[in-house]
Amino acid sequence: MTSASPRVQGWCPGALRPMMSGDGLVVRIRPWAGRLRAAQAAGLAALSNRFGNGIIDISSRGNLQLRGVRMSDHPALLAALDELGLLDRDPSSEARRNLVVQPFWQAGDLTHDLATGLSQALSTARGLDLPSKFGFAVDCGDAPVMASASADIRIERGAGGGLIVRADTASGGQAVAPDGAVPAALRLAQWFLQSGGAPDGRGRMARHLAQKTASLPACWQDAEAMRPVAQPAPGVYAQGVLVGLAFGQCAAQTLGQLARYGDMRLTPWRMVLIEGATTIPEIDGVIGTSRDPRLRISVCTGAPGCIQAQGETRNLARDLAQVLPQGAILHVSGCAKGCARPRSSDLTVIPRDSGLDLVYGGRADDTADRSGCSVQQLRTEIRQWVRG
Ligand code: SF4
Repeated sequence: MTSASPRVQGWCPGALRPMMSGDGLVVRIRPWAGRLRAAQAAGLAALSNRFGNGIIDISSRGNLQLRGVRMSDHPALLAALDELGLLDRDPSSEARRNLVVQPFWQAGDLTHDLATGLSQALSTARGLDLPSKFGFAVDCGDAPVMASASADIRIERGAGGGLIVRADTASGGQAVAPDGAVPAALRLAQWFLQSGGAPDGRGRMARHLAQKTASLPACWQDAEAMRPVAQPAPGVYAQGVLVGLAFGQCAAQTLGQLARYGDMRLTPWRMVLIEGATTIPEIDGVIGTSRDPRLRISVCTGAPGCIQAQGETRNLARDLAQVLPQGAILHVSGCAKGCARPRSSDLTVIPRDSGLDLVYGGRADDTADRSGCSVQQLRTEIRQWVRG
């Protein structure tokens, strides 16, 4: 049992700046422009087994995290990551290079070019000291598909079909030519800093705009945004197959097996697109259908991996998946911080010393509607859930 008021770290781990957790160091790898070569994926799987505990997370920003890395092994792991081409030149470059990329691009198209250009520009940008959680989305397909992904500045299609650069939550954006998109994204990031968006080194665009301490200049809202479309489901697409990783985590062996099918594109939906594959791989823990209830469950690390957790989460989620009604969204959170899903869910379960708490239609930090439940009682409650 740890504190009932979880600590806010305020920063995200990287490879060069890992974070200590309950099971050792968390080493987060940011593949360039959201793409991982098959050889890199196979290499990461081997490194997870050699230096970590064989467990790999896929984050909500489409990054991979090796868990359970021993402090003494960190230098050797960095050398190996460098050989795989997965290491930034310094911690600041790594922290800035925070972007998600819609996965349905074609080689040489705008999305691919812009993601590559933005990665390079962020890596080398001087004087752009953005908060650790500040990020970008490159989402330039026919319509935006990444509305649910965490991003502060978005490069998207406007309603007229051209490119726009948009501040997160702003109703419009600035129309840009393809070669102007990356510079515009950096200018908007500068506006965020200069207008007081990160007074203590922390801050997000949505909160900055909502607080109205500075108003977004009209030139950043001139162009109408295109309406986003729904998040894609697992299945076969022209670019390859999109598969989910159960609860955003997999064994190193699973990543190694997936690497045999091709290069990968990482998504913010706890899914990977395997380039060129035409059939869904049948691998334990890999989800190939939208009917799988595990896709509707968000789970954080929980105990013992997180030192703030008040209980185990993943086995609990696996158990509750069996009784989750069609369409219901479940969040299993190791404490009130709610890392895996900051917004509300149909059902939120939090383990406590006194048993399991259940919140209907709220977040992990809301007052529980049921407290001190056993797993069996929770199964019955969840089975009977009806949307209010
Ligand atoms: S929500 Fe989960 S991962 Fe986040 S601090 Fe609490 S137990 Fe840890």
